[in-house]
Amino acid sequence: MARMAVQPTRAKTRIVKGDRVRVMKGKESGKEGSVTRVVRERSTLIVEGLNLVKKATRPSQKYPKGGLFDQEAGIPISNVMVVCGRCNKPTRIGIQGLSEGRKLRVCKRCGEALGKER
Ligand SMILES: [Zn+2]
Repeated sequence: MARMAVQPTRAKTRIVKGDRVRVMKGKESGKEGSVTRVVRERSTLIVEGLNLVKKATRPSQKYPKGGLFDQEAGIPISNVMVVCGRCNKPTRIGIQGLSEGRKLRVCKRCGEALGKER
């Protein structure tokens, strides 16, 4: 991939921690999980139990023998879509303005609110 941007761009996404997402591309394609972390600087997010990689760890107090552990690796944000709780399908996220500048994320398919008001 070509490296063009000098400044790291923080990915714009409406996905937040706790969202249920489905992976649309890549080796975990079709799988779903809960977002545990959004890493905007890398345009990736961490999904619980998905995209596991083996991490070698040196012996420590917690793991006296060290060894290999499964750890979640980042998945490109562009490869996932949020799953609506009502229509149970991957969807795009719409924004509905509320009073006093508050915003609500909604499912673009059915209009159901996604998560809490923010
Ligand atoms: Zn929906």
